[in-house]
Amino acid sequence: MTMSTNKDCELEPENHDQSVDPIISLNDVLNNEEAIQEQILEAEALLGGQDDSVCTYPEGYKPRQPLYACRTCTKDGMSAGICYGCSLNCHDGHDLIELYTKRNFCCDCGNSKFNSKCGLYEEKLPVNARNSYGHNFSGLYCVCDKPYPPTDESEDLGTMVQCNSCEDWFHLQHVIDGYNEADAANGAYEGDEMFCSNCVAKLPFLIVYTSFIQTKNSSDNSSPLVIDLNACKFEAIKQSNSTLNMDAKTLIIKDCNWRAELCKCQKCINMYEDANCAFLTEHEDTLQFYIAQNEHAASSKPAEKPIERELYDYVAEKQSHDVALMVLSGFEQMKSQLNAFMLEKAKENKVIKKEDVENFFEGLRAAKRRRMDGDD
Ligand SMILES: [Zn+2]
Ligand SMILES: [Zn+2]
Ligand SMILES: [Zn+2]
Ligand SMILES: [Zn+2]
Ligand SMILES: [Zn+2]
Ligand SMILES: [Zn+2]
Repeated sequence: MTMSTNKDCELEPENHDQSVDPIISLNDVLNNEEAIQEQILEAEALLGGQDDSVCTYPEGYKPRQPLYACRTCTKDGMSAGICYGCSLNCHDGHDLIELYTKRNFCCDCGNSKFNSKCGLYEEKLPVNARNSYGHNFSGLYCVCDKPYPPTDESEDLGTMVQCNSCEDWFHLQHVIDGYNEADAANGAYEGDEMFCSNCVAKLPFLIVYTSFIQTKNSSDNSSPLVIDLNACKFEAIKQSNSTLNMDAKTLIIKDCNWRAELCKCQKCINMYEDANCAFLTEHEDTLQFYIAQNEHAASSKPAEKPIERELYDYVAEKQSHDVALMVLSGFEQMKSQLNAFMLEKAKENKVIKKEDVENFFEGLRAAKRRRMDGDD
């Protein structure tokens, strides 16, 4: 389940003896670069289709968009969510809670729930009546109602996964009966979509379809279910499996294309609407569709020249090929030192501030001055 990874990708702080100069191996630097690359890809999947300079308020209740909650400027006791553009422009440097994507939400930035105005789109109604706010907006998750990351660092509750219906995040061990690490390691709990047991209790037809898909995928030659196209497919499936245990439990479905199996007769459509889950009949609603769209948007942006290439071209034009190569090797060296420096900060679990970067470059300049003085 890929949507779990955004809450799982932070660098682990490592314990090391503060009194000894920490040694940065090449491996560390490379691993750090890999982790950064992974984060870039994840950000692309989540944000590639978003415009970072606009507030999405005029687009209304968007089918799906990444959201954030701001602890710095939301009025006390209020729940509010802001769009990606506002998180960057109106709440830069604030204490933000990353909420991943949610459906049918309209940006609250600067409305009656805030102490400050929106810098991107001010003309908002005081409240967005159709927005719903769960405990995620207060930084709490799962049936255990815990913050992420956990305040007690010794408590490793594992990966969290988002429910496709209620959109809350859950520790699998808290919502799966008989959860065990060995099964988890074997991928038993991996899939495109997860529905928490609370949602399954409200949408019991999910149990019928999940069992139908499992049978369909596992039995290759048992008599296939003959369905009259004019009748309700759901009724036919249900009758073919009358002994099915309908106790609500958390369901994980391997492939989001299962949604194509959902019956779309009028009776079933009414059932989905009554249960507020009509979105399940739309492929465009899946996270996989959303991610594919973002990746497409990100890849169709004009490709930037890598900075090394820019630098080489610039110097080669002004000077010569040899000078350009020399500058480039100095640049590579600086880059790897900068990487090591970032990794160091990550290990200390520190946020990198502007002063840190300035100090880093000041250090480089001092080293260069020393080298040049030595040359004299
Ligand atoms: Zn906004
Ligand atoms: Zn803020
Ligand atoms: Zn704003
Ligand atoms: Zn939990
Ligand atoms: Zn749920
Ligand atoms: Zn039907």
